[in-house]
Amino acid sequence: MEWFFKSPEHAAFKKKFIERQLNYARKMAIFAACYYFVFGFLDFYLADETTWQLLKIRLLVTLILLLLILLTFHPRIKHHWQTIIGLLVFIAGLGVVFMSAYVPGIYKPIYAQGLLLVIFYGYTMNKLMLKPAILAGSGVTLAYFINTFYFSDVASEFMVTSLFFQISTNTFGVFAVYFMQKNAFDVYVKNEDLKNHNKRLLKQSETDGLTGIGNRRYFNNHFERLFDAKIRSLDYLSLMLCDIDYFKNYNDAYGHLKGDDALIKIAKILSQQVPLEKGFIARFGGEEFILVLFNHDSQQTHQFIKNIQQKIKSENIEHLDNKAADWLTLSFGFVTLDVNKTSPNQAYRQLTKRADRCLYQAKQQGRNQIVGTEFN
Ligand code: GH3
Ligand code: MG
Ligand code: MG
Repeated sequence: MEWFFKSPEHAAFKKKFIERQLNYARKMAIFAACYYFVFGFLDFYLADETTWQLLKIRLLVTLILLLLILLTFHPRIKHHWQTIIGLLVFIAGLGVVFMSAYVPGIYKPIYAQGLLLVIFYGYTMNKLMLKPAILAGSGVTLAYFINTFYFSDVASEFMVTSLFFQISTNTFGVFAVYFMQKNAFDVYVKNEDLKNHNKRLLKQSETDGLTGIGNRRYFNNHFERLFDAKIRSLDYLSLMLCDIDYFKNYNDAYGHLKGDDALIKIAKILSQQVPLEKGFIARFGGEEFILVLFNHDSQQTHQFIKNIQQKIKSENIEHLDNKAADWLTLSFGFVTLDVNKTSPNQAYRQLTKRADRCLYQAKQQGRNQIVGTEFN
């Protein structure tokens, strides 16, 4: 199939297929190499003066096969395992060709049957892709033909029959590999579609429809992951809750659509202030936002919030029904956790509650205020 389709999707499929199937192919190759040697019982069974020579060939070939399998463990060579296993099939076949040339006339067709097994193995058992499988399978048949036609005194009926069977096995093998790979490719495409679809759904389910920033679920998921993994690498963690002041009045005075615009503007300012390496933000509900900030102690967090308030002021979003100022303002409550002094697990559930309490106080103190506390 790799000959017929060259799209990037096929290239990605091929890469993944090769990455994933090595282990399986290697096990199959070990099994096949052992089986190859087990066939030595035939050499004994048909014993005559050639037995030891046959066993020597068989042992030598088995050792070469095992050596090839060993190569697939080498970190720099292993991604060429399709070529190596293709070569393994060809060498196994070559061994049988030699043995069939070596045995006396009446045994030649018996040994030639072994080639069908080798070809069948190459196409079906170790996940070779079409190109290496065809090269290995037809290579074996070609080697048999050259050897028998030029060097061996096989009766032509036997040679023609053997070739006919081998060519048929090759043909059936090509169909088997083609359909196996086509199916695997279809499954791969469907899987990728599903994965992408799931990713889109997850992103959608974590995004706030109005402002485009993360929603509460996004916050919960990120916050949980933060406490699972990254928290120990931080010195401080600040959690801030903020709420637009007198926003109901704003809606009443300027209309709900203007209110929506204001929310979008505030969300934009907040996300500009908290790039991903510094923390993350989300819309917590209605006109409330939640911010997480890394590695700022409580004083630095306070200053950080002051800068945000300054930035909002400079946007000058008119709000004449705001009793705290003439522009749109936000009240902030925050809590700073000293990660080295407290157990993060203990803090996990408490932080939001504490920040909320501080926000409540900020509202009580007249709004457009910052109230913070340290968690210990
Ligand atoms: P406070 O200073 O105490 O926070 O007063 P407030 O008026 O902001 O608080 P209140 O809880 O009384 O009102 C919140 C308002 O926020 C009411 C609601 O209509 C508005 N709001 C919530 N979500 C949205 C939204 O998505 N779009 C718009 N335009 N308004 C919203
Ligand atoms: Mg509110
Ligand atoms: Mg409010």
